[in-house]
Amino acid sequence: MRILIVEDDAPLARSIVALLRASGHAVDHVDCGEDALMLAGGEPYALIVLDVGLPDMDGFEVLDRLRKRGDRAPILMLTARDALDDRIRGLDLGADDYMRKPFEPQELEARIRALGRRRGGDPTPELTVGTLTINRSTGEARVGEDLLDLRRREWAVLDALATRAGQIVPKEILHAEVFGIDEPVGGNAIEVNITRLRAKLPEGGPTIRTVRGVGYLLDPG
Ligand code: CA
Repeated sequence: MRILIVEDDAPLARSIVALLRASGHAVDHVDCGEDALMLAGGEPYALIVLDVGLPDMDGFEVLDRLRKRGDRAPILMLTARDALDDRIRGLDLGADDYMRKPFEPQELEARIRALGRRRGGDPTPELTVGTLTINRSTGEARVGEDLLDLRRREWAVLDALATRAGQIVPKEILHAEVFGIDEPVGGNAIEVNITRLRAKLPEGGPTIRTVRGVGYLLDPG
């Protein structure tokens, strides 16, 4: 998933970003409300983790402005305060979940997975396309009984294509979902991952088709 972290506590932000990247997510981080509003306006985030206490405006204002301009991305609020009022206010303004600091990073990750699934209207962590099965909880992908040995980017590309199986996914959309904005990647990073993926997909199962000049399509086979 492409995730935006809005958190001004640098060590905490670093640990969240590292954990989520290690799990295969494409993560961007900003430390103030203005930057969050700017990035969320241009990038296709599947989820936003939003701290309440920010230097320029509080997280409630960011949340309110995002919702008022029609941004439907699931938002998980982080609050250092123990006040029930804050949590109710966040939920009333359209937050989807909240966590009180301090928290265990693993719990944050589990909630992020749950929110990501809810967004897709899919309550189960498994996605099936023909003989391909992707499990978002375990990070495994199988064709039939065969477990695919995928690097995390390959998995993310496959997940992005499988989510829209049978539809053309523009290359720019794939790139935006798989890589964060501050990740130094070459212009052909998507092609490289597609080539590797094709080599790993067994005969007879789903195939990745190139739609010249547009993008890619996962054919269920
Ligand atoms: Ca803060």
